Amino acid sequence: MRVLLAEDDDGVADALTEALYEHGHLPARVRRGEEVLVRHRQADLLLLDLGLPDLDGLEVLRKLRAVSGLPVVVLTARGDERSVVRGLRLGADDYLVKPVRLAELLARIEAVTRRAKSAATTAAAAAGAPAPRTVRAEDVEVDLDARRVTVGGAEVRLTTKEFAVLAALAARAGTAVSRQQLMDEVWGDAYLAVSRSLDVHLTQLRAKIGRPEVLTTIRGFGYRFGG
Ligand code: CA
Repeated sequence: MRVLLAEDDDGVADALTEALYEHGHLPARVRRGEEVLVRHRQADLLLLDLGLPDLDGLEVLRKLRAVSGLPVVVLTARGDERSVVRGLRLGADDYLVKPVRLAELLARIEAVTRRAKSAATTAAAAAGAPAPRTVRAEDVEVDLDARRVTVGGAEVRLTTKEFAVLAALAARAGTAVSRQQLMDEVWGDAYLAVSRSLDVHLTQLRAKIGRPEVLTTIRGFGYRFGG
């Protein structure tokens, strides 16, 4: 299993990396929280130290959870209950208090992976009857699967990013979607998202669709498609 290890302490990182290798895993180690946000897609599990030099581990976790369901085991030297509880609330799957005992670490990794697999199986089974994937507002029709947009029956050509912004809104038609959520979804890594490019894409989308009432700005929050 590909294990991304975010740990700034070399001693701890070396010991964990070696143990992971020995037990058949493929560890990749990073020192900074930002690197987690860039590299999480190449991992099957994240071991996340909470005391990182650039970003607080809990902040890393919050940002990661906006874009990914990657299994996460938090490593904390703090031992304080509050960080652990917050971590679990933010979506950590498990936690270990340092110093980490290797046998326990490996057992936790296995347990978390097993749970993640069975959750994925359940989700796949539940997805047996797919919801309709075409969304309408007035005469604007967004086909999320075919990635086609028509206005009054005429197809509108959108760039990949424009479509991604529109699809993120249309998938929750009638609901306000925050700017942060849009940027997380469309640009993937939250901290790389540039607020201005979202504005640019929305301006272009509005011009192409030509139905200003279909894409509503929610002041100080975000946007809404339809309703
Ligand atoms: Ca640390």
